Amino acid sequence: MARFVFITGGVVSSLGKGLTSASLGALLQARGYSVRLRKLDPYLNVDPGTMSPFEHGEVYVTEDGAETDLDLGHYERFTGVAARRTDSVSSGRIYSTVLERERRGDYLGRTIQVIPHVTNAIKEFIAYGEDECDFMLCEIGGTVGDIEGLPFFEAIRQFSHERAPGECIFMHLTLIPYIAASGELKTKPTQHSVKELRSIGIQPDVLVCRADREVPEKERAKIALFCNVRPEAVVQAVDLKTIYEAPLAFNDEGLDRAVLSAFRITDAPAPKLEIWEEIAERAHNPDGEVSIAMVGKYTELGDAYKSLLEALTHGGLANRVKVRVEAIGAEIFEKPGAEEQLSGFNGVLIPGGFGERGVEGKIAAVRWARERKIPFFGICLGMQMAVVEAARNLCGLERAGSEEWNEERKQRGKAAVDPAVIYFMPEWVSEQGLQKRRADGDKGATMRLGAYEARLTPGSRAADAYGAFLISERHRHRFEVDDAYREQLEAAGLIFSGLSPDGRLPEIVERTDHPWFVGVQFHPELKSRPFEPHPLFVGFIEAAVKQSRLV
Ligand code: GLN
Repeated sequence: MARFVFITGGVVSSLGKGLTSASLGALLQARGYSVRLRKLDPYLNVDPGTMSPFEHGEVYVTEDGAETDLDLGHYERFTGVAARRTDSVSSGRIYSTVLERERRGDYLGRTIQVIPHVTNAIKEFIAYGEDECDFMLCEIGGTVGDIEGLPFFEAIRQFSHERAPGECIFMHLTLIPYIAASGELKTKPTQHSVKELRSIGIQPDVLVCRADREVPEKERAKIALFCNVRPEAVVQAVDLKTIYEAPLAFNDEGLDRAVLSAFRITDAPAPKLEIWEEIAERAHNPDGEVSIAMVGKYTELGDAYKSLLEALTHGGLANRVKVRVEAIGAEIFEKPGAEEQLSGFNGVLIPGGFGERGVEGKIAAVRWARERKIPFFGICLGMQMAVVEAARNLCGLERAGSEEWNEERKQRGKAAVDPAVIYFMPEWVSEQGLQKRRADGDKGATMRLGAYEARLTPGSRAADAYGAFLISERHRHRFEVDDAYREQLEAAGLIFSGLSPDGRLPEIVERTDHPWFVGVQFHPELKSRPFEPHPLFVGFIEAAVKQSRLV
C-alpha cells in the first residue's frame, strides 16, 4: 500500500510544481523507495492532445499511447519511471467517465452530483494501482482558489480523511516575492494561500517557498507560525541555474527529510545522490559549446518543445558541452538564399509538427544541411521533410510531398502533391497485432500513438548508436513514409535503416555520404533522461562537436 503526497500550488502559477514533484520523486528514489507520479489537471479538455502547444506546451506521449501534460515528461526525466495513461487526468476526463456511467445506468437513477460522484471518480484515479509503489505523488494543476480546481481539492481532502492517519500528507508550493522598494521578502501571499487551503479543509504539512533569493530564518519562522507548519517543514526553493540541480538543492534544504518526518518515518536510508552530483558537475563545467538551429514553427522556445530541448541538453551533458539552441521560424527559408543564415550553426534539427505552413522552408533547410554536410536530425515531421527533399532534389520527383497538405491545398485551389511520398496508411501489423486507423476518426483516433518497435539494419549509424537491432520508441503522427519509393530513395543515398517489424513502415532514414544525417519517424526526445541520454541525441551532439572543430 502506498503513502500519498498531494502537491498543490498557491499565489501564482508557473512556480515549478512539476519540477518540485519530480525532484521529490527522485529524492525518495535515492533513498531506496519506489515512486509513481500523477498529474490531476482541472481544465475541461478531455486530454491535452488537441490543445495548442502555444497555450499548453508540448503534448507528452506515454509508452501506452496517452497524450498527456508535459509535467509527466519532468516526472520521467527525474525518476526514469515510465508514465502511463493512468497517471494523467483532467476534469474533462473525469466528467466524461461520470457521464458515461450515468448513461449506462450505473447510478441507478440517482441524482449525479459533484460530491460524491465526481469526487469519487477522482479518488479512484488517485488510488489506482497503489500497491505497486511506496509513494504516490499526486500533483494538482492550477492554484488553490481556482473554481475548476475545487472538486480536486475536495477529493484529496476526503481521500486523506478516509485513509489511516499518516498515510497522506499535503505539500504546498508558494511564492515569496521580493519587493524592491522596501527591500523585503513578503510572506503575506503565502499566509493567504495557506488560509485558502485551510478554508477547504486542507492543512499543509510541508511548505515549499519559491523565492529569487535566500529566505531568512526569521521569515521562515514567521511562515511556520502563521501557517501552522513545523519550522523545519518550511523549505525554501531559490532559483537555480539548471533544473537538474533541483534534487541536490532540495536535499540540502531538507525537503525529503521534511516529507519523511511528516509521515513519521524515522528509519529511512540515507539518500544516494551520486548520479545527481555527476549531472550537476557536468552541467556546471562544460568543455565548450555547440549551437543548434531548430527549424520549426514555434519560435518562442517556452514549453512547446520541452522534451526536445531537454534531450539536447542531455546530449550535451554526455559530450560535456553546453548546447545553445536557436529556434528559427521555418518560413524565413522560403526566400531563396535565406539558408545562409544557417551558417555558423553546428547542427540543424527539424522537430515534429503538423500542417503545411513552413514546410517549404524546412525542406530548404534539409537541403542546405545535406549539401553542406552539417549534422542533421529530423524528428517525425523532420524525417518526412528529409524524405520529401530527397524525392524532389535527388529522385526528380519535383512535386513530391505529403498527403497531409492536400486538404489545405484543395481549399486553396492548389494542385495536390504528386506523388505523396508521405501518406496515410489505414492498416499495418505491429508487435501488438493488426493496427487500424480511420482517416475520418476524431483527432486522437487517427494517430499512431505510443511505443512501437523497429528493426535496425546491422552496420547502420542507427544500430551503432543504439547498440541494438530491435528498439522501441514512442510515436505521435498520422502519416508515414511510403515504402514504395524505398528503392529510388536508397539509390539516391537515403538509406532506410530502421523499419517496423513487419517491414512496411520506415522508422529511420540516414545518409552514408554525410557526417551525421538521421531522420526518425518517432519522438526519441520523450525517452531521454539526464542520467541516460538518448543515443541519437548523444550522436547528434557528438557530430556537432566534431563539426565545430572543423570551422
Ligand atoms: N504531421 C506529421 C504526421 O502527422 C508529423 C507529426 C509529428 O511530427 N509529430 O504524420
